Amino acid sequence: MKKRDIIAVFLILLLFLSGCQEKVEEDVRGYEGRTFYEIFVRAFKDSDGDGIGDIKGVTESLDYLEELGVGGLWLMPINSSPSYHGYDVTDYYSINSEYGNLEDFKELLQEADKRDIMIIMDLVINHTSSEHPWFKEASTSPDSEYRDYYIFTEDESKKYEASPMGGGSPWAKSTLREEYYYALFWSGMPDLNLDNEELRKEFKEIAKYYLELGVDGFRLDAAKWIYNDIEDNLRWWKEFNSYVKEINPEAVLVGEVWDNIRGMEPYAEVLDSFFVFSMGEDIINGLKWSNLSVLGEKLADSHKKLKEKNPDFVPAPFLSNHDQNRIMNQLVNIDKYKAAAVIYLTLPGTPYIYYGEEIGMSGKKPDERIREPFLWSTDFKKNTQWIDITNDSSIALENQMEQEDSLFNLYKTIINLRKNNPELSLGEIEALDHDHKSVYAVERAYKGSKAYIFVSLSDDESELNIEKGSYNVLYSNVNDYESLKTEGKLNLKSGEILIIKKAD
Ligand code: CA
Repeated sequence: MKKRDIIAVFLILLLFLSGCQEKVEEDVRGYEGRTFYEIFVRAFKDSDGDGIGDIKGVTESLDYLEELGVGGLWLMPINSSPSYHGYDVTDYYSINSEYGNLEDFKELLQEADKRDIMIIMDLVINHTSSEHPWFKEASTSPDSEYRDYYIFTEDESKKYEASPMGGGSPWAKSTLREEYYYALFWSGMPDLNLDNEELRKEFKEIAKYYLELGVDGFRLDAAKWIYNDIEDNLRWWKEFNSYVKEINPEAVLVGEVWDNIRGMEPYAEVLDSFFVFSMGEDIINGLKWSNLSVLGEKLADSHKKLKEKNPDFVPAPFLSNHDQNRIMNQLVNIDKYKAAAVIYLTLPGTPYIYYGEEIGMSGKKPDERIREPFLWSTDFKKNTQWIDITNDSSIALENQMEQEDSLFNLYKTIINLRKNNPELSLGEIEALDHDHKSVYAVERAYKGSKAYIFVSLSDDESELNIEKGSYNVLYSNVNDYESLKTEGKLNLKSGEILIIKKAD
């Protein structure tokens, strides 16, 4: 073999090995640090022209989601259900026929996997539909084996009991017999009795079924309401989580524990992740009142408190979901909207985007209005038709893709920065000390490398102290520059959003 050939072989081998190295790192990319995207399937993308969003529609949208930088999807309920939203399940093993079938779902799982997009699905364990065969049988025959799956009483005084959620009695009158059943959210959704061992087994089997199909985990609806007693709740989730990890150690359980940070904290020891409602509220309130000086500290504290509870726990910051008025209606102002996006998408943990948020869709309650068809196109026939659209057609994705300074392009830029800079996704967070009321400033440090995020709502330039040296500019909304050098002071322009990374 000639010397030249030996060198060529050596180089090819080196290339091959570095390729393997990259592959390994890619394979171990876990849940933490990704950006997730919440999808209401009915409203997202229609693949067969019947006007209803479906699973094939989600599969067809994967290229879009990949371009956006998304690393995971949360699918709102896809099981059979008589309601439009699906949170009242009638069969945990079947796919809502309006959304497609099991083959469609398998195809979605495979296609998402090819793009390294994780998929978690909503799992509703607190209650079923009153149309579920278990409940139908339990409410007609007291001797049924399913009777104990629910909570019945003949005690009429229960109708005066206050709900633990606040408001009227959680007991609903049976239409079949002289009795009441417990239904915390709505009479159409009777609560399940998880004290029943058979029922516990049922849900473990259901989880196993979907995990073996390739689902990466579950979003746990109403996770704090399985029992009214927190200790019982924690015991159940611990048991369920251990079971899930036996099936797939990498699977994630993401809880809906809608509470203040104190109320959420204990769940960090039994769940892998949950939505940190208070972080979104802190960001929105800070921006509403242009009071950002303590926001960095608040967010860093929340994150650290949860990590102290359990170092493996992954907080999931978000701005709003399918139960809350959309961010556009809460913040109104587009500059504040952009600031909110940058702040939460550069937090540690795993942020969740609510579909349509990246194009600035608006909507306030009733619920249907915050779940409008995703606006792919100004031509409404190209969007789902499940409900009429009240959003302004000019914000359609196809328009925003063409506009360099659009909200969509900001989301895409920031999410991809997050994806490509571990400082922004996995780094430690510290608030920077300063006395500018309308400035947000945090440091993110990962394996000795540091990045900084600044957001100014001030009308003036703000001077901030920062480590002397050279920085690469990852993003600025006011200046077009690739790097900057400081002698220890940084001048943040009025209204500037700036993300920089230490170069040396
Ligand atoms: Ca359809």
